Amino acid sequence: MMATTHPHEIEKNETAPCTTRKDVTVLIPVYNEEENLETLYSRLSAVLSGCTASYEMVFINDGSADRSLAMLRGFQENDPQHVVVIDLTRNFGQHPAIVAGFHHCRGDAVILIDADLQNPPEEIPHLLAKFYEGFDVVYGIRRQREDQGWRKLGSRSVVWLMEKLLGVQLPTDMVSNFRVIHRRVVAALNKVREQQYDYALMMAWMGFSHAGVEVGHASRAAGESKYSTWKLVLLTLDMLIGFSDAPLRLASICGAMLAVVSILAGLYQVAQRLLGVIDVEGYTSLFLGITFLAGIQLLFLGVIGEYVARIYREIKGRPYYVVNRIYQQEE
Ligand code: UDP
Ligand code: MG
Repeated sequence: MMATTHPHEIEKNETAPCTTRKDVTVLIPVYNEEENLETLYSRLSAVLSGCTASYEMVFINDGSADRSLAMLRGFQENDPQHVVVIDLTRNFGQHPAIVAGFHHCRGDAVILIDADLQNPPEEIPHLLAKFYEGFDVVYGIRRQREDQGWRKLGSRSVVWLMEKLLGVQLPTDMVSNFRVIHRRVVAALNKVREQQYDYALMMAWMGFSHAGVEVGHASRAAGESKYSTWKLVLLTLDMLIGFSDAPLRLASICGAMLAVVSILAGLYQVAQRLLGVIDVEGYTSLFLGITFLAGIQLLFLGVIGEYVARIYREIKGRPYYVVNRIYQQEE
């Protein structure tokens, strides 16, 4: 049994709500995945029971409108020892769903996996083997990523940008969900007082020891990606605003540069006027100059607005997610 050879020291009471500890928790955010759940559940059960008897699967139903919740409750009723279902009141998004899972999991090793079978459950023992060597985070590095080209390019650009802005080296494939983390990392994440955050970036920013293991990747077994291009753009903007002051700094630098240029241009104009070389041409350039500056001003007002909105959201202190019910065996 893998857990007995575990070199991580065991600290008590790190994650408050946990009373009965497990060796392994698998966290699965679920949003309209009825076609995938049956296969996912049986493949996960087969793999996990081969690793340890002390495991739990925590499914977070993120406001699914299909039969997902009913199916998850079925698994829970038939296998109450190993299945926990956290039902959220509506669709909050993958990150809030995972954070909800962090608040309720009991495993020493916490595994994140998508419900759509893009991450093969059979790779879990490889991830765990590396984890038990003593790493706090083990990333599943996708050998051959089965997603559209523009998504792969987009992910690479996001990682590049975040490395530049945060000044930390991010692990390859940080954007993939598939990973094992120590409960020490979960405990640290659970202490974050920010209301909304990208857990993957927060983990990278926290800087625990990490390693990668190459894993297979499949295309989505059934259904469609829950991320539209627009949702991905918004998510990236949110990461940028949530983790960096660079856009604000850019606004100040642009403003300062434009001010210097206009002072110099103004002085030049005054000199020309005094020397009597100015005639009455130049309305077009004047108009273009005004609209250009107005555009820049509006853009940066918008940038400032984004930060103000974020501060506003934070100080209201609304929960990141709301739990409807938890289906779980009595302890
Ligand atoms: N998901 C979720 N809430 C959402 C969107 C997605 O819980 O609002 C879940 C989804 O069910 C899946 C995982 O997050 O288990 C990853 O979603 P998806 O496969 O659609 O993302 P992609 O693989 O296209 O990045
Ligand atoms: Mg997917």
